[in-house]
Amino acid sequence: MKRIENYDLSKQNTFGMKVKAALYIEYDSLEELMSLDVKALPQPVFHIGAGSNLLFTKDFPGTVLHSNIKFIKYVDMGLDEVLLTVGSGVVFDDFIANVAGNGLWGPENLSLIPGEVGASAVQNIGAYGVEAKDIISGVVCLDTRDWTKTVFKVGECEYGYRDSRFKHERGRYIITSVLFRVTRKYSPKLEYGGVKAALEGRDLTALTPMDVREAIIGIRRAKLPDPAEIGSAGSFFKNPVVSREHFERVAPEAPHYDLPDGTVKIPAAWMIDQLGFRGQKLGGAQVYEKQPLVIVNASGNATPEDVIGLENQIIAKVQEKYDITLHPEVDHI
Ligand SMILES: Cc1cc2nc3c(=O)[nH]c(=O)nc-3n(C[C@H](O)[C@H](O)[C@H](O)COP(=O)(O)OP(=O)(O)OC[C@H]3O[C@@H](n4cnc5c(N)ncnc54)[C@H](O)[C@@H]3O)c2cc1C
Repeated sequence: MKRIENYDLSKQNTFGMKVKAALYIEYDSLEELMSLDVKALPQPVFHIGAGSNLLFTKDFPGTVLHSNIKFIKYVDMGLDEVLLTVGSGVVFDDFIANVAGNGLWGPENLSLIPGEVGASAVQNIGAYGVEAKDIISGVVCLDTRDWTKTVFKVGECEYGYRDSRFKHERGRYIITSVLFRVTRKYSPKLEYGGVKAALEGRDLTALTPMDVREAIIGIRRAKLPDPAEIGSAGSFFKNPVVSREHFERVAPEAPHYDLPDGTVKIPAAWMIDQLGFRGQKLGGAQVYEKQPLVIVNASGNATPEDVIGLENQIIAKVQEKYDITLHPEVDHI
């Protein structure tokens, strides 16, 4: 177990905020985690993954916990379905590379989403028509209320769009491993976001999971910042949902999705772009040129104040022009 005081978190949040934690603890197993006397640690206690959906707004006064539980174990090799259990500290994309490399279908459309396996089950990450819940079978966690091991079947995880029970009961459950169900059955999902176009010229009846993974990686590289090169936390704002009357009143020309309950979802990126924010800077922070839903640490030295300042400018302008309140997708810590 690693235990470091006054710990520099700058490498552990993809935004690259230069902040510190009073104490950082990285555990290697469920047993090590269970051996901690959490009440005796500096408070509050916050669990991170790779810090790719977080904005640290200042030094963290308490304890940051991190899982270094790293294993990928195939537990049931059925004729069709294959079950595997994966430690929460495994990089999610390494898990995908392993599964796709074994010719198995399921997570390939989620390729290159930053972050770790534990957080994937918290966030119900999604991309190109696939969500983590589609391949999760169960989630193993520690319930911090009574410090016992708890296992949830996927149906008990209350999954919704980027949502789960682990988000509702924030901080209660620490995920230590996730059980995934993948398949040998030929099942590429090519209907979303230009995946088919990226595979143009290929025989679509004879693809491997690795082919689809590579196509997705190509698409993502062309439009999203690589955290290894430029700091960000991905999509900064949620796409707002408004009534049809509101939509027709403020932005009838906007691209939009009609939702089954009659409400309308408007892409926040479109509004941000319309208001001229693309490429706009504040201190070291910038609205990403290639995708205005993303705020990046353009200089590498952006401060939390720069990012929050830009965020507030965007929120104020969208409110003024469209009478819509944007909410951040990124967790502010
Ligand atoms: C460039 C970029 C592109 C992205 N693209 C996408 C995308 O296409 N789709 C998508 O869904 N997301 C996307 N994201 C967001 C991000 O990758 C996901 O939200 C990811 O799941 C975060 O994982 P993490 O390990 O970094 O978690 P963190 O950001 O460290 O934490 C996220 C949340 O999970 C909790 N948590 C972390 N580990 C555990 C654990 N073991 N037990 C309990 N709680 C835990 C944290 O407390 C926090 O609330 C993108 C981010 C970036 C930077």
